[in-house]
Amino acid sequence: MRDDLWHLDTLAVHAGREDLATLGVHAPPIDLSTTNPLPDIELGGDSYEAMATGGRPVAEGGMVYARLWNPTVARFEDALAALEHAEAAAAFASGMAAMTAVVIAHTVSIGRRHVVAVRPLYGGTDHLLGSAMLGTEVTFCREEEVAANIRPDTGLVVLETPANPTLELVDIAAVVAQAGGVPVVVDNTFATPVLQNPIELGATMSLHSATKYLGGHGDVIAGVVAGSEQSIEALRRVRAITGGLLHPLGAYLLHRGLPTLPLRMERQQRSAQRIATWLAEHPAVAEVFYPGLDGDPRGLIGRQLRGPGAMLAVRLRGGYDSAAAVTAGVRLFTHAVSLGGVDSLIQHPAALTHRPVPAEARPGADIVRLSIGLEDAADLMADLDGALTAADRRSGDAYAGNLSEVSGVRAH
Ligand code: PLP
Repeated sequence: MRDDLWHLDTLAVHAGREDLATLGVHAPPIDLSTTNPLPDIELGGDSYEAMATGGRPVAEGGMVYARLWNPTVARFEDALAALEHAEAAAAFASGMAAMTAVVIAHTVSIGRRHVVAVRPLYGGTDHLLGSAMLGTEVTFCREEEVAANIRPDTGLVVLETPANPTLELVDIAAVVAQAGGVPVVVDNTFATPVLQNPIELGATMSLHSATKYLGGHGDVIAGVVAGSEQSIEALRRVRAITGGLLHPLGAYLLHRGLPTLPLRMERQQRSAQRIATWLAEHPAVAEVFYPGLDGDPRGLIGRQLRGPGAMLAVRLRGGYDSAAAVTAGVRLFTHAVSLGGVDSLIQHPAALTHRPVPAEARPGADIVRLSIGLEDAADLMADLDGALTAADRRSGDAYAGNLSEVSGVRAH
């Protein structure tokens, strides 16, 4: 059977491992070399030239230097590219290093300054683009405003779906149509290739904070971008020059996590749907943000996204005080930023992950975000119920009163 016909579960287990039997090993080898012996000057030089301009080693023995090529990292990249139905992928030291490389490759390095970015975005991405640190100019807009904001010097359109932290869905194909040939990068971190393949919907690149679901165990910081061989060459060139490399041990751990990714997503999503449905009826909760409830009026689940995922956010009736009490009151959920691991996390976006976002675009101070893990959903609900009910009791007066007071992060 041809491997391009394999289903997702099979690809997740076997991609990037096709040569292991020939090598006589069962687990992928880890190559920690920083430099590589060269057969001769000519081959070394040709290979150096190829890789410094974004290509691959020209021949066996042509790896030269680990900033240019590492076989353990390349294995993970091949596996991720297969899961994204893409020609190639490039891995980086973090999701932000990956986004930085994407922005450099498509803007300042090719004489285009302008980026169109669809909000909401992860706070770090918003910060990177809004800071103009890379010499770019950004127009932040809503999904339907992309076409109106494209300029002759626009090099890149950035979007995230489902978006961090309130799970808005963006229609990828519609944005690609509006971009009119300008490259579109989709942050696919929340969906993972299990639930969404942006390249099949016309996007140029699919980007992940691999720190999240791909790693899945909270022990690797990494980023990865999938796309055509040509678009990944441009990123490898930036990586070779600027050096935002993924360490091979990180790549090994990410590759090791991929076989369980479909199972983890399926189970975490099932619990998230149950918990979101239950939270929607909880007296302490004013609103639940979850595409699996009523967060998908355009029917993107099915057309673009294969399921609502395992992230959700809630607006608390008791405002910031409730958020502070709930994050302090849970026992099974860890009060911590990040997401997508086997254990459940809770955090306050306005104070933490979205703190750098300007006030007018920042999530409300009454919102907390939940990353649902692999614990039993009933135990997670009991944990949340205890914390919510205690918070509710403490802030009873607050939500009986004026809700409009719940805005902006309380000074602390
Ligand atoms: N994209 C999204 C959606 C994220 O949630 C994050 C981090 O939280 C990033 C990108 C940045 O990734 P990293 O923290 O690996 O740099």
